[in-house]
Amino acid sequence: MAIMQIKKYPEEILRKKTDEITKINGDILKLAKDMLETMYFFSGVGLAANQVGISKSIFVSDIKPEGKKNPIIVINPRITSSKGGVYSEEGCLSLPGIAAEVKRSKTIRLLGLNTAGKEIDLEVEGLLARIFQHEIDHLNGNVFIDRINPLKRWRLKREYFKKK
Ligand SMILES: [Zn+2]
Repeated sequence: MAIMQIKKYPEEILRKKTDEITKINGDILKLAKDMLETMYFFSGVGLAANQVGISKSIFVSDIKPEGKKNPIIVINPRITSSKGGVYSEEGCLSLPGIAAEVKRSKTIRLLGLNTAGKEIDLEVEGLLARIFQHEIDHLNGNVFIDRINPLKRWRLKREYFKKK
């Protein structure tokens, strides 16, 4: 396993829609393991492949990074339905040092594949639903500041580039 380097906004790869994974081979399994290792190392709760420079549709997550590990790996994730709307603060390993309140669906249904190629069909809510939406945004070339109002985004970007 290896700790990978996190791509930081505004790197180009974060803006590109990732490619669907057509074959779950050894490279994908190694990528998933390395992404998990990297996420734990940086104390993240989720990580998308393009955040470590690989433009493929896979993310990892774990809402208990400090305690008992409970990793979730999803390949080619897709949200098939969503309900409700909630605001909560979000940050991102690719935009270190800033955070903002972001509106997300409260409940989502997620379809995808696990690393064994079996179908994942999950209905989740709360923090996990938020993380999944954040990571799927990444895989589609979006970052969380795209989801806040333009004035707030402008101020946050100014703060971000000042810190960089
Ligand atoms: Zn992120």
